[in-house]
Amino acid sequence: MSAAIIDGKALANSIKQNLSERIQHLKANHITPALTVILVGDDPASAVYVNSKHNTFTSLGLKSEVLRFPAEITQEQLLTEIRKLNQQKDLHGILVQLPLPKHIDTNTVIDTIAPEKDVDGFHVSNAGSLMTGNPRFIPCTPYGVMKMLEAQKVNLRGAEAVIVGASNIVGKPMALLLQKEGATVTICNSKTRDLAAHTKRADILVVATGRAEMITGDMIKPGAVVIDVGINRMADGKLKGDVEFSSASEVASAITPVPGGVGPMTIVMLLVNTIESAERSLKTA
Ligand code: NDP
Repeated sequence: MSAAIIDGKALANSIKQNLSERIQHLKANHITPALTVILVGDDPASAVYVNSKHNTFTSLGLKSEVLRFPAEITQEQLLTEIRKLNQQKDLHGILVQLPLPKHIDTNTVIDTIAPEKDVDGFHVSNAGSLMTGNPRFIPCTPYGVMKMLEAQKVNLRGAEAVIVGASNIVGKPMALLLQKEGATVTICNSKTRDLAAHTKRADILVVATGRAEMITGDMIKPGAVVIDVGINRMADGKLKGDVEFSSASEVASAITPVPGGVGPMTIVMLLVNTIESAERSLKTA
């Protein structure tokens, strides 16, 4: 194996430690950063993610509340709950854990969150601010990936970046962030013809498809930096990424593991966004 392992867990811990001064400053001003997560239904993976966010927040002395609703909740009931949270002055972040049950329109729900509390950065107005180059909140997963590339001192200017996956929460914002730093960006999706022809050109390859181990070493340019966003739980209970680690790590110069790569970074960037939101509330108080 030749690739360096990009340790997301270690980087997330060091970012967390650096946040303590900002948290203390807020507390000295009688503000405790507070997040409320809404969880609808009983999807086991969602429950794991929500618990992990909750534990991270409370371990740092921040406020975190999880509101759990049954899968049968109506869209209107859910919107009413969000509107109530929007009014809470001492609440800095509201997050709706996705996916939602099919009878609920995800975009309507997200766009009901007050944009200044939308710490996931998914609200249409926050997506627009990111697109036009003046983001209010950067979506946590691509934000975490940018921090990893920065820590790894990857030169983005003029680099060929290829993203496999074009979702609103990962692929598209990832493309905007890389482009802003001067990379030439290609976004691939499930209809892309000859995917390998694209991935083999990439100096930086980001994969976020939810298809376990679909990218293999022969699809990667020697020396590329490979970021694996995928989290797939296999039949044996183990987690696998969207990249086949064994073959990819023979070819890449640096690669993120799953677990222990992008996942911990996503949570820590949620902390960063919530603290940022609390700091803004201090400025406007
Ligand atoms: P979505 O299902 O919303 O999007 C998947 C994207 O991948 C779509 O654009 C789809 O294309 C594309 N795609 C699917 N199959 C292929 C294929 N064979 N070839 C090329 N493109 C393909 O997923 P998300 O973006 O929400 O999540 C992606 C993965 O990242 C999942 O494993 C998820 O669990 C993980 N994830 C991890 C996070 C973390 O913290 N580490 C956070 C968020 C997600 P099309 O547009 O054509 O349908």
